[in-house]
Amino acid sequence: MGLKNFIIKLIPIPLVKLFASPYVAGDSIEAAIDTAQKFWKDRHVCSTIDLLGEEIESDDEVQYTVNVYERLIDALGHQDYATISLKPSQLGSHKGADHCKKVIGGIVARAKQHNIKVTLDMEDHSFTDMTLDIFRALKKDHPTFGTVLQTRLFRTDDDIKSLKGLNARIRICIGIYNEPKEIALQSKPEMKKKLLQQVELLFKEGHYPEIATHDEAVTREAIDIAERLNMKKDQYEVQMLMGVPKQTYQDELIQNGVLVRVYVPFAEKWKYAIAYCKRRLAANPAMAAYIMKNILYKATGKH
Ligand SMILES: Cc1cc2nc3c(=O)[nH]c(=O)nc-3n(C[C@H](O)[C@H](O)[C@H](O)COP(=O)(O)OP(=O)(O)OC[C@H]3O[C@@H](n4cnc5c(N)ncnc54)[C@H](O)[C@@H]3O)c2cc1C
Repeated sequence: MGLKNFIIKLIPIPLVKLFASPYVAGDSIEAAIDTAQKFWKDRHVCSTIDLLGEEIESDDEVQYTVNVYERLIDALGHQDYATISLKPSQLGSHKGADHCKKVIGGIVARAKQHNIKVTLDMEDHSFTDMTLDIFRALKKDHPTFGTVLQTRLFRTDDDIKSLKGLNARIRICIGIYNEPKEIALQSKPEMKKKLLQQVELLFKEGHYPEIATHDEAVTREAIDIAERLNMKKDQYEVQMLMGVPKQTYQDELIQNGVLVRVYVPFAEKWKYAIAYCKRRLAANPAMAAYIMKNILYKATGKH
């Protein structure tokens, strides 16, 4: 573990909550939906709403998670601006792929009743096979079901080819989990170069790439690829995380006719949100300093 991750691991939970607040919509379904509606009404930014939580290993907690997703879906209802995202490790993966597929299948079927698209997030490499198996199995009955691939993993070119004919929504991102050098790229520039190659491959294989990065140069190059391949603006989208300060760039993309979607996470119980918040802080420790500076400014009136 690097020094940065070691320090982030030691931060007390109340401080993690404070530092991570820009990345999280709030602690209720209403807060998440309000945030998504505001993004849409104010700036025509779409959302994908995610209940924070992972590595859940009790049936009661899985049932609780299912219940929150059902309430979220019913409260969202049919609309054009929000999808939902979910993770195998919060929905029964501890009891094997078949059980997890059944649990996720129930949520996807409920979402279908309201025409809400669902994306299966990708966790660390130990989940890749299970996630793709569940995705393939449910995609047959749920054409708008989508998933995620991570460009850092050596296997991803093959995974894209293995989805041939599915015409799927695939979020393509570098991946947030540190992975061993035996199975994954270790250098960020290489991961980003690979992301561009895989955007091209996804287009060529008939998929709808969801280009998930905050690196403006990478996004611009991905859009150049789309244009070179004569893709229309409704054949891809750009995704970013709520809380990463990219508003001006998002508005520019939207003005140019590109669909922009932000990831809007919420938690009803904060204990489920801590791992996500720590990963976001590790991705940008400067955010903690920035928030501290703002708090001091508000308290003292001095910069
Ligand atoms: C919508 C969405 C969904 C995702 N889903 C998954 C998933 O299912 N599985 C998975 O493994 N990964 C997922 N990721 C994470 C992703 O893979 C990257 O780890 C993350 O987006 C940072 O990589 P980057 O491409 O933005 O490049 P970076 O080089 O990390 O970032 C580019 C620039 O963006 C800014 N930035 C990036 N992160 C932050 C931050 N936290 N706070 C403030 N500024 C920041 C910085 O200015 C940085 O220089 C998702 C990302 C997005 C946007």
